[in-house]
Amino acid sequence: MAETVKLDALVVGAGFAGLYMLHKLREQGLSAQVVEAGKGVGGTWYWNRYPGARCDIPSVEYSFSFSPELERDWRWSERYAPQPEILAYLEHVADRFDLNRNIQFETRVTAAQWDEAATYWHVETDRGQAYTAHYLILATGALSAPNLPDLPGLDSFTGTVLHTAKWDESVDLTGRNVALFGTGSSGIQVTPELAKRAAQLTVFQRTPNFAVPAGNHPLSDEYLAEIAPQLPGLREQARQSPLGFFATPSPGLAKEATADARAQRLEQHWAAGTTGLLLAYEDLLFDEESNSHAAEFARSKIAGQINDPETARKVTPQGYPLGSRRLCSEIGFYDALNRDNVAVVDVREEPVTQITGDAIQTSDGTYPADVIVFATGFDAVVGAINAIDIRGEGGRSLREEWADGPRAYLGLAVAGFPNLFTITGPGSPSVLSNVVLSIEQHVEWIAQCLSDLDARGVTRLEAQADAEQEWMEHSDAIAQQTLFPRANSWYHGRTRDGRRVFLPYLGGCGAYRDKCNAVAADNYAGFDLGRD
Ligand code: FAD
Ligand code: NAP
Repeated sequence: MAETVKLDALVVGAGFAGLYMLHKLREQGLSAQVVEAGKGVGGTWYWNRYPGARCDIPSVEYSFSFSPELERDWRWSERYAPQPEILAYLEHVADRFDLNRNIQFETRVTAAQWDEAATYWHVETDRGQAYTAHYLILATGALSAPNLPDLPGLDSFTGTVLHTAKWDESVDLTGRNVALFGTGSSGIQVTPELAKRAAQLTVFQRTPNFAVPAGNHPLSDEYLAEIAPQLPGLREQARQSPLGFFATPSPGLAKEATADARAQRLEQHWAAGTTGLLLAYEDLLFDEESNSHAAEFARSKIAGQINDPETARKVTPQGYPLGSRRLCSEIGFYDALNRDNVAVVDVREEPVTQITGDAIQTSDGTYPADVIVFATGFDAVVGAINAIDIRGEGGRSLREEWADGPRAYLGLAVAGFPNLFTITGPGSPSVLSNVVLSIEQHVEWIAQCLSDLDARGVTRLEAQADAEQEWMEHSDAIAQQTLFPRANSWYHGRTRDGRRVFLPYLGGCGAYRDKCNAVAADNYAGFDLGRD
């Protein structure tokens, strides 16, 4: 058994969040270590290697802002960089800031127990390596615990099973019969690539999503030279904005515009990518009537791209507001559905009854399959945290407590679990923002907090249960003022008694940042601070 390593801080995960957290902790002179399940850095961009994977927030925004030198030296090739380029960027970050020497790869954190007497976390891994750390920081990712559906007979399938978030590049799909499950952002990105390679692609769709043209293009030297001096100002504007984007909503209410003016405005925003259409008017995520105009516009655009009326009917979203489920970004998805070798099966009309050795049987037919690709998403926001057996004060289990509804004060800390931080946890803007911007804000707040505690001789910090409850109620009240609760989506978690809990904070990145700063300035109001 390896000797227990003693640390000031242990960080779980080496994606955007874990890398920057490690850098900040070391800068502050703390002994810190990252434990990462993957063989390399990158998190999302390490695991999601499916063909077609790319970001849908422009890369000049979806990247670190903390180092002007890093920003200056890295050149993004396209408006939305493909996965290999984002992975290369994060590998560059790790090399540039010499982070790898403090990352333990291919190791999964399995359990963590709070030791009240010693004021440290005792952390266990699947490699037998144990750590004690004064602070435990979960940079485990909001979208890193993949969902595998429990389909009847899946165990008897003799072909290859892939998940987009655990892609195996060695699998050759050329000339194979491929069955794809899921038409969220990942399924929509991978479909055209599968269609190009497969003999036959069958897309098993449950809920159709709205997808807008990505509007991707190479970035010219002229554009990059022009935007470089503007970046600090644009980044600051994004920090104060609702969603953390450079672009902000165009003024006006959709329902008050004339039909002609509205059609013109929506047309202009249609091809502006995922950060475009929803910003066409300021009320699209709040007002049902306004939203219905934009949704109808999007439906007609979608149907207009598909040759077969039956396929168009199946993939045209109905019954929920535009944007209340993640708006998807597409490059050739609807075109792919027009190909002779692609078919769409709506599993709500035609449920899967059995998977056999080499086929998918539904209530209406049999579809041969050599490869099943699951683009079936994630146990979002809480899945990777719940996978660790975390025991706080008096042995209380975080997983057990979150089964009654995930909760965290400011999305950053949980009552009963001292000296533990969650980066992009429930109740923070996280997945409903430019996530890199939100990660930077969390990392910087945590780093400042640890420095303040040290300066004040504080060794123990714990969120107060009242403050936590108030924050989650506030977060929920804001969500209820929007159209998000009108849809079933992964933005909602479920309690053990089936109640829905809206997970991200919708009060806006700027307002959220101000609140976190105010809490810190008010001697960490809402936290109990303890000294040895
Ligand atoms: P992650 O990148 O998920 O990293 C978490 C790491 O923790 C993983 O490497 C995982 O292996 C590790 N880990 C988890 N549990 C353990 C454990 N118990 N022990 C050891 N290691 C563990 N967001 C946007 O804002 N814009 C986009 O365009 C965008 N595109 C996306 C595309 C895809 C395909 C996906 C899946 C997500 C996308 N996201 C996007 C969200 C994306 O997850 C975040 O932007 C960001 O990359 C998250 O970084 P992170 O460091 O918080 O988590
Ligand atoms: P997702 O949005 O949760 O989509 C999962 C899909 O699988 C849904 O269509 C879901 O249907 C379907 N599904 C689940 N179980 C099924 C079953 N048993 N049978 C048939 N279909 C089933 O997951 P994702 O596409 O991986 O995306 C998750 C998030 O990651 C995105 O919302 C986004 O935030 C991020 N992401 C971003 C990009 C990008 O463009 N940059 C790309 C990929 C991912 P239901 O909807 O009916 O549940």
